[in-house]
Amino acid sequence: MNKIILTTKHLTKTYHNQKAVDDLELEITENSIYGLLGANGAGKSTTLKMIAGIIAPTKGAIIYKGKPWRRKDLVEIGALIETPPLYGNLTAYENLLVRTVALNLPKDRIREVLEIVHLTNTGKKKARQFSMGMKQRLGIALALLNHPKLLILDEPTNGLDPIGIQDLRELILSFPKKGITVILSSHILSEVENTVDTIGIITNGKLGYQGKTPENSAALEDLFMKVARNQQKVTE
Ligand code: ATP
Repeated sequence: MNKIILTTKHLTKTYHNQKAVDDLELEITENSIYGLLGANGAGKSTTLKMIAGIIAPTKGAIIYKGKPWRRKDLVEIGALIETPPLYGNLTAYENLLVRTVALNLPKDRIREVLEIVHLTNTGKKKARQFSMGMKQRLGIALALLNHPKLLILDEPTNGLDPIGIQDLRELILSFPKKGITVILSSHILSEVENTVDTIGIITNGKLGYQGKTPENSAALEDLFMKVARNQQKVTE
């Protein structure tokens, strides 16, 4: 049996009487890549922000490694949500150094994460001069500094060109072997079909499907449309 690293129980977030996330029950297997899919405004970022401790749930619970989520679990959870928090006037190394010092980590870790995300040769280039893909990679490097067991990536391919998307896919695919479970969100089906093992489709904050990723793109599209467009609950 595969171990479960995280579940959510009746997870709900309400903004001014609107349920952005509604009674969500996710189940994430350790060392898997889980794709949270949904149309714009479905509630993906709100869900990921709750798991990353950025916002608090209105109701329900997040269970991490069998116990209710505690703030100290964040030492094992890395996240890249929305735009990477970079200092534009600092290099990749310096951006990582700031967080390394703040987290009291050894400086050797900077080189390690730069190698993982293939950003070792940016030298004196400042982050503001980086391409979108380089910024995403540096954002992921920041999230990896602390040796996370769980990595949360909100729409990580946003704004990337096809080469950047493919590079990032390969990077993400390398994480389970390193003992890192990934939860990522997307509304672009073709970007996830070859990456994620399991998908959760949410629509209007509710989980419409959770299970294995369909074998081919037509089946994934069909499933997504059934759930997202018709707001149907579909079981595996
Ligand atoms: P996208 O793919 O467009 O990023 P999403 O699935 O990530 O969408 P969320 O950002 O989670 O969707 O938003 C879900 C719903 O919650 C939307 O209706 C949004 O307007 C609402 N919402 C999100 N954040 C807030 C907020 N801070 N205040 C009020 N409403 C919010």
